[in-house]
Amino acid sequence: MDGQGRIEEDFARVGRWVARYFHHPEEFRVFPDVRPGEVLARLPDRAPEDPEPFEDILRDFERIVVPATTHWNHPRFFAYFATSADPAAVMAEALAATLDVKAMLWRTSPAATELETAMMIWLRRLIGLPEQFTGAIYDTASIAGFTALAAAREALGLDIRRRGATGRDLPTLRIYATEHTHSHIAKAAIALGIGHSNVVEVSCDERFRMRPEALESAIRHDLRSGMQPMAIVATVGTTSTTSVDPIPGIAAIAQTHKIWLHVDAAYAGVAGMLPEYEWLMEGCEQADSIVLNPHKWLFVPMDCSVLFVRDFDQLRQTFSLVPEYLHAGDDGVTNYMDYGLQLGRRFRALKLWFVFRALGTRRIRETLREHVAMAATFASWVAADSQWEVMAPHPLSVVCFRHVPPGMDPEQLDAHNAALLAAVNATGEIFISHTVLGGRYALRLAIGNQRSTLSDVEAAWEVLWRCAESLEGVPR
Ligand SMILES: *Cc1c(COP(=O)(O)O)cnc(C)c1O
Repeated sequence: MDGQGRIEEDFARVGRWVARYFHHPEEFRVFPDVRPGEVLARLPDRAPEDPEPFEDILRDFERIVVPATTHWNHPRFFAYFATSADPAAVMAEALAATLDVKAMLWRTSPAATELETAMMIWLRRLIGLPEQFTGAIYDTASIAGFTALAAAREALGLDIRRRGATGRDLPTLRIYATEHTHSHIAKAAIALGIGHSNVVEVSCDERFRMRPEALESAIRHDLRSGMQPMAIVATVGTTSTTSVDPIPGIAAIAQTHKIWLHVDAAYAGVAGMLPEYEWLMEGCEQADSIVLNPHKWLFVPMDCSVLFVRDFDQLRQTFSLVPEYLHAGDDGVTNYMDYGLQLGRRFRALKLWFVFRALGTRRIRETLREHVAMAATFASWVAADSQWEVMAPHPLSVVCFRHVPPGMDPEQLDAHNAALLAAVNATGEIFISHTVLGGRYALRLAIGNQRSTLSDVEAAWEVLWRCAESLEGVPR
């Protein structure tokens, strides 16, 4: 067989595997039955000297990798934020890898660059942001958030880019967040030399939302103490409960004090394309930067996170540094390497384009609505039963809840629900995760896979009951 025929045959084999994978989830445990170190022990301790047949490589993928994988694409994966890769996007990934462009300069990747620009426009219109917002695609919200905060730091006019932040007299810079802000903001503060302790935890209301009056007083307190506010981070869809900070009130405070407002909408931002969720992004038109993750709830496989900024040039001023060998002299083009840390960048826009075209926005909206509706149904089952308790409002597709067996000492509930989580996940039938709300342990069921149906949610409810009853004998 010639080289081309060989590639075709191998691809067809992989294609058959992918198709089967997506259509027969029942063949897999969601959470694998594997001990730490087991996979490592099954691998040779050095790379092979000679080529091996593709069949053997694929066989080992099936034999070693697949059974030791936590199956994020499984419709009964309900942990963290449930996601799913649309098959069209999986094919786009193969095609992007085939082209293997490094999307840094327009001339190294004209199509990748302009498709990225187009996808940012499509997304901006879908979620209803004003036209002045422009941006780029990054790998994760963590990096997109870091990039936004780096621009916020540069926008202070302290000349930190040129002079650095050491060996000179600078005010203490402060970032305002809440206990429900995602941890990457603290990591960005660490990496940017702001310091973890200068991420101010503004208090939340009883629905886990930032309290604007507490924000205002924290800022005033810092100003009186000679500190300099650098950024406010508000969240649309917090990671624990999907609570939505009151952006309009927060934006007004940001404007009064001229502080950069960053909105983290990593998970929930895409719901902004539903007319009934227009309120979600309300006030975001006042933000300086906004992150959302198509790799979370837009059926795009890892990784794809977008950052919108009000002033794109601010990003360029923060990050552009062009070595001689990359000077291109093309007029009027975007060179995306100028807008972040990364030089070579993946062709991520391709999978976004494939997803939009393969699904269409009508179908995407319907799927998001189904997820929200299934979460509401699950929450109604929980709320209707005296043995269970809903622990937070569920504006989107995540429900926080716990088991409250009659007569159990309240002191025991945390340990009991932690044991329940372990028992449920050990079945391999479903996979859920947990959080802590107001000091109390909460189970979390997140719906976000395009292949999840109500019968998958019913199965989760059945497994939860079964495991809860099997734990009744636990000493109290
Ligand atoms: C998931 C999540 C993140 C982190 O996303 P990555 O893309 O994995 O870095 C940040 N913020 C919020 C609100 C999230 O839900």
